[in-house]
Amino acid sequence: MLNDELLKEELQEIELLLHYGVPETEQEAAMDLLHSFAADLFALRVIHDFYRTLPEAREEALRKISVLERKEQVYLLLLSTERHHYLYLTNTEEGTFAGELGKGKLDPQVLSFFNYPDMETFAARHRAEEDRQEYTVLANAREEVCPSCGVQAGSLHILGCPVEVCPWCEGQLNHCNCRFEQLGVDELSDEQMFTELEEKLSRKGRIAYDKEQRPSFLSE
Ligand SMILES: [Zn+2]
Ligand SMILES: [Zn+2]
Repeated sequence: MLNDELLKEELQEIELLLHYGVPETEQEAAMDLLHSFAADLFALRVIHDFYRTLPEAREEALRKISVLERKEQVYLLLLSTERHHYLYLTNTEEGTFAGELGKGKLDPQVLSFFNYPDMETFAARHRAEEDRQEYTVLANAREEVCPSCGVQAGSLHILGCPVEVCPWCEGQLNHCNCRFEQLGVDELSDEQMFTELEEKLSRKGRIAYDKEQRPSFLSE
C-alpha cells in the first residue's frame, strides 16, 4: 500500500539521521521514541525535521513531544531532549523551529493566533512540565481522523496532504504526475497554478479521507 511505503521510507531516513547524529548512549531512547510513532506520518515528519535541522553542536536524542497548543490544523509542539525544550510550530505541510522554551520570545503573531496577550502569559501557562500534554499516537491515530492532515473521515484533506488519493490515477496525489499533466507544466511555481489545480480537482471530484486510506502495516 502506498501509505505504508511512505511511512517506511520516512522511518528509514530518520533512522539514518539518528545513526549519524545522535551519540551512541542516546540512540536506544531515540529509536524507541521514533518507533512509537512508526504509523504516524505527522509525528514522523516532525521528528525528521528535528534531526535534520537541530543545531549541530547539540547532538541529542529527542525524548518527548508535547502539544502546547492546537488550533485548527496548526500545532505548537514542544520537542524535548534531556536538557533542552524546543518550540516547533507546524501545520500538515511544514514546520519551523520557534525558539527554545524559556529563552527569547515567540513571534507576536503566533502568540495572538493562540490567544495569548503576551509572552509572559504564555510562559506562565507552559512552565510546569506536568501540565504539558504529551503527543501520543493515540491522540492522533483515531481512525476517524486522517493521520497526516487531521481532517475527519468524509472530509477533504488539506490540499497537499500525502494521504490524499489522486482522482485521476488513484495514486498518491502529491507524488503522481497528474497535477503537472493536468496543468501542462513541469512544476507548480506560483499561486495561480495552485488555484487552477484546485479548480480542476474540484471539477474532477476530490477523494475525501476514508479510514481505508490509513497506513496499516503496524496493525498486522
Ligand atoms: Zn489528510
Ligand atoms: Zn494521479
